[in-house]
Amino acid sequence: MKITLAQQSNLENIDYDNLPFGVNFTDHMLVCHFENGAWQEPEIRPFGNLNATFALHALHYGQAAFEGMKAYRNQEGEVALFRPERNWERLNKSAERLLMPQVPHEVFIDGLKKLIEIDQAWVPQDEVKSLYIRPYLFSSSEFIAARPSERYTFAIICSPVGPYYAGAVKVKIEDVFTRAASGGIGFTKAAGNYGGAFYPTAKAIEEGYNQVIWTDHANHELIEESGTMNIMLRIGDKMITPPLTDRILAGITRDSIVTLLREWGHDVEERPIKVAEVVEAARNGELKEAFGMGTAAVVSVIQQIGFKGERFDIPTPEDGIASKIRKGLNDIRLGRVEDTHNWMVKVK
Ligand SMILES: *Cc1c(COP(=O)(O)O)cnc(C)c1O
Repeated sequence: MKITLAQQSNLENIDYDNLPFGVNFTDHMLVCHFENGAWQEPEIRPFGNLNATFALHALHYGQAAFEGMKAYRNQEGEVALFRPERNWERLNKSAERLLMPQVPHEVFIDGLKKLIEIDQAWVPQDEVKSLYIRPYLFSSSEFIAARPSERYTFAIICSPVGPYYAGAVKVKIEDVFTRAASGGIGFTKAAGNYGGAFYPTAKAIEEGYNQVIWTDHANHELIEESGTMNIMLRIGDKMITPPLTDRILAGITRDSIVTLLREWGHDVEERPIKVAEVVEAARNGELKEAFGMGTAAVVSVIQQIGFKGERFDIPTPEDGIASKIRKGLNDIRLGRVEDTHNWMVKVK
């Protein structure tokens, strides 16, 4: 691995008490190119500009996918990643579906560990702040013809972040637009999935919501995801989340939460959930809690669900499952309890 260190750190210019999500970047990044059918030597170098012409393939045809993960500093001051192998595996699933090359373990994982070790001073020790990590892969040939790229670029950039959402959110059950269809790319973190979601989300925001709950492409009858998060509903004494299909992103937070809830003795069902069932439960008070699950916000409590113009308030109990699970994950990440699943991977 080639390493070029920054002349000067930008860390002292960052106000950690006022961290907007994803706008400040650490001193270094990792870059690795795939060309002539092979991965080249990865390089860690100062964060900086892309060197490309406007013919860059990814900009035209969207052969691009990303990951999102975080590094935490535990109470001993050690820096560790949360389940990084899962992100590596998932990026390669996205890559396969988008006909991009598989990123080798030594490029993704070894490169990531080295990068975070170099920029470790940027990782805060905090309940709500952490270092957000963005590995991504994109087509980097420079031609405009609708065929697969020949060159690809893998990169990792990092951004110190505070909480993603300010508080509990209001969500609209989407009954017109679709995020993902069967046979499509909803299960990947393909860049275009997010570009396509901005318009429906903006419509929901105009109506006074923060996000949409995506429903199935065929009839808009099934609950799928909440924005860019998986969704968990507490109906009666059951925790319910939709099963993983090719329309749903297999969240690592979702998997971790389902694992913890089951260990704690909760009844967790992974099954199709009808919009009608949720509306009915909300109407009769059986919908006790609802929350999104994802790396950025970890747990995002839902305080209101809207459906066809009707709005239902959902309880947001302070001692509810959402806060219990948030604390449970934080305890593992900050080293306050034993990491029995070996989810934390130290950077050195
Ligand atoms: C990234 C993402 C998630 C959450 O995945 P995590 O691994 O938990 O961060 C859920 N849904 C969508 C659509 C996503 O892009």
